[in-house]
Amino acid sequence: MKKHPSPPSSVALAESGVILKPWPGKCHVGLIFPQRYGLAMSNLGYQTVYRQFNAFDDVVCERFCLPDKADGKLRSIESDRPPTAFDMLAFSVSFENDYPHILQFLDRARLPLPANERTAAHPLVVIGGIAAMLNPEPLAPFADILLIGEAEAILPDFMDCYRQTSNRRQFLKQAAETVPGAYVPAAYAIAYDAHGDIATVTPDPGFPATVNLARMPDVATIDTSSTVVTAETTFADTCLIEVSRGCPHGCRFCSAGFIYRPTRYRDPAFLTESIHHAMARASRVGLVGAAVSDYPDLSAICRQFKGADLRFSFSSLRADALTDDLLQVLKANRTKTATIAPEAGSQRMRNVINKGLAEEDILCAADKIVTAGIPNLKLYFLVGLPTETEEDIHAIVALCRQIKSVFLDASRRQKRIGTITVHANPFIPKPATPFQWTVMDTVAALQTKARILRSGLKTIANLRFQMGKIRDGYIQALLSRGDRRVADLLLQRHHSGGNWSQALKQSALDTAAYVTRQRDRDAILPWDFIETGISKKFLWHDYQKALQGRMTPPCPPAGCTRCGACPA
Ligand code: SF4
Repeated sequence: MKKHPSPPSSVALAESGVILKPWPGKCHVGLIFPQRYGLAMSNLGYQTVYRQFNAFDDVVCERFCLPDKADGKLRSIESDRPPTAFDMLAFSVSFENDYPHILQFLDRARLPLPANERTAAHPLVVIGGIAAMLNPEPLAPFADILLIGEAEAILPDFMDCYRQTSNRRQFLKQAAETVPGAYVPAAYAIAYDAHGDIATVTPDPGFPATVNLARMPDVATIDTSSTVVTAETTFADTCLIEVSRGCPHGCRFCSAGFIYRPTRYRDPAFLTESIHHAMARASRVGLVGAAVSDYPDLSAICRQFKGADLRFSFSSLRADALTDDLLQVLKANRTKTATIAPEAGSQRMRNVINKGLAEEDILCAADKIVTAGIPNLKLYFLVGLPTETEEDIHAIVALCRQIKSVFLDASRRQKRIGTITVHANPFIPKPATPFQWTVMDTVAALQTKARILRSGLKTIANLRFQMGKIRDGYIQALLSRGDRRVADLLLQRHHSGGNWSQALKQSALDTAAYVTRQRDRDAILPWDFIETGISKKFLWHDYQKALQGRMTPPCPPAGCTRCGACPA
């Protein structure tokens, strides 16, 4: 294989922090984010893996994204090389609806799509990322190996194993045996029963029956911040820094809240130092985490940078955690829009999903935000939640009306009126959550609910409403909940020029069985072979509590063994 020297591309030259390493004598890893460049560079997980691969002396890792034009060339950003010049192609997948892009990439790289048609002469295809970590099965036939878990906990052992043998079959077997989170799908035979449900999963001799999700016991002092800072992202000129991993609140619809348990925080001194480093590289710091406002010293840390020429943004702030300090930071940053995520309109529904927000918390947050001088509000809701009735949909309209009233009073006091935007998205029952057994609403039911919302919300002046695409939600649910037979549908879509409707029409697969069918407690779910550390018994019990409208308290700081994720 020709490994020609190439100069850095113009994109790489325009970036700060890009890693350029000499090629000879190294393992060459192409790291692919199956989306456009701007989104890739806004993804902290992808950026972190880029740095981690390059931290190995014997590895050169270069980035690939989807080209802007359909016929654009696939070339690495750093040295303009084609995918086939690399020993390994590693995909980082955050979102199920990007799965078709993996097939597109492999095809355009002139690689056979099914792993069993590739040989040792082709690059090794590795897939990781949160979507693959929740349920890798729809991607199983396309990957030589999947990495299930947090990259920091996997890559050192993975690369050690890779160095030990040049025989691919031997490497895959050894990785499955010794690397935490390594999953070689070809080594597992799946049998189905007469109803089409999974009956048995049989590993080849020597392969483990289950795959343990790999996670870092402690993230206090590991560096997860933007490696590359560039103007062409959603967060232009922003250095992203992870402040915490996981979330203690246990919202029952949220896969990140379960899969990243237990909640782990950065050491405050280390975080402060990371912010100082970031200041030298960007004018803005984005603090990232599933629940940034839970970080114990957040206000104190932000106060230390008062007066500095630095603007902060936060990936998530809970409505019940908006302290005056945080609001002052937002105001000082000239923030124009703040987000509140009530998720549901009625208290009953918020209890079912374990949101832990009372109506007063939501109204109080709206008032505080506008009073602090932030004029615009974004509100997020889910539609189609378990046990939801039309009454619960009307309750969303009623809550928005109340928020509007509070918003108007506070805006008048400020002598400035902004806008409220309401976003509603279809609920998807995600793997590894207490709702993994439940159903997604049918497309027709979601359309009816969207109509009720639209007609109710249009009577509220100066309020915009956006409903997430219902069909995209259905596809996401299918890819999120499917077994490896769904891979055939991905292939069919690919061969029909990316046309989902045609692929769904032509397929014999009963897609509704994955999306809108209630599953029994003892059903073998496609992702059951992944040991997340959270007991299935706990998830089922929490689901039953949800159906009764009972809440589960947030994770305590220590001494809890409730779900199984924390060490006993
Ligand atoms: S064991 Fe307790 S504290 Fe730990 S993640 Fe589970 S519920 Fe939270």
